[in-house]
Amino acid sequence: MINLISDTVTKPTSGMLDSMFKADVGDDVFQQDPSVNSLQEKLAELFGMEDALYFPSGTMANQAAIKLHTQQGEQMICDKWAHVYNFEGGGAAFNSGVSCRLLDGNRGMFTANQLVEVINDKDNIHLPISSLVAIENTTNKGGGACWDFKEILKIKEVCSKNKLSFHLDGARLFNALVAQDESPKQYGEVFDTISICLSKGLGAPVGSVLLGTKEHIKKALRIRKLFGGAMRQAGYLAAAGIYALDNNIKRLVEDHKHATMIATALQKCRFVVEVEPVETNIIIFYLNSTISETAFIEKLKDDDILISSMGEGKLRMVTHLNISIDMIENVVRVLELI
Ligand SMILES: *Cc1c(COP(=O)(O)O)cnc(C)c1O
Repeated sequence: MINLISDTVTKPTSGMLDSMFKADVGDDVFQQDPSVNSLQEKLAELFGMEDALYFPSGTMANQAAIKLHTQQGEQMICDKWAHVYNFEGGGAAFNSGVSCRLLDGNRGMFTANQLVEVINDKDNIHLPISSLVAIENTTNKGGGACWDFKEILKIKEVCSKNKLSFHLDGARLFNALVAQDESPKQYGEVFDTISICLSKGLGAPVGSVLLGTKEHIKKALRIRKLFGGAMRQAGYLAAAGIYALDNNIKRLVEDHKHATMIATALQKCRFVVEVEPVETNIIIFYLNSTISETAFIEKLKDDDILISSMGEGKLRMVTHLNISIDMIENVVRVLELI
């Protein structure tokens, strides 16, 4: 099977499993797991941020960030396609009692000017208090698009001026860093908190990390406990994260190259009407009226290729470290003959 459904389907390589088996562990609820501690220190240092905390999932890391930056009744501002709004089960409302002000961005990205227009006046008692801005890089529903860092700086300026916290959902931030030749530290300087997924393109089986100041992470530690996300000998999992950071960042360029190869083949495919620009490892495309989504997905399945639908006519393929160049050539051949 060639599984292009998501970069979350990756399984640990033997090198990764080896380092997991050998991990030095302790009870992380007492913050005494050396592997978890070293993963947290490693990422905090990489981003030049004060502190970090390991989470079982990216959703929990994002939700903890929303909770620590807001009070009930306040408002978070994000793009209409944001993962924190669309794909976290309504957690912002459920966990933190905040509403979301959605911006009509482009491929999941909005501008500083759009943000300025929706910030509520704190002195107007009719309006919810705007307290948090959250962006996503790369954008998931936006097809792996990367933000222009200059726009991020402009948004930061608006946040500072209006005393808004600024969170980055960096589930696939390393894909953006590699594609744009940017450094973790430039992001660490701008954001109050950043979440990073180790279980997507980086290939670990489990885990995300939230980065922030010592004060933020102290709050996050309590929130993680009350969300039920404090784990014991989590070092076996954290060891996979350390291995991923040491071995699987640079190779993301291959996933990006592979995604471009598939996009080129899709553009020539007789069923495809449009392919969105590919910047990283996600390909989003649309079919013409000669075939249904289900029929197209089934056709590929007959050739052992698995892909998914994101709704609204969007079909998605995602490349990752378990997809070899041979598999990509196979997909290209199938798309030519289909
Ligand atoms: C995958 C993802 C997350 C977190 O997802 P989990 O499955 O909970 O780890 C958060 N944001 C974005 C943009 C994602 O793609």
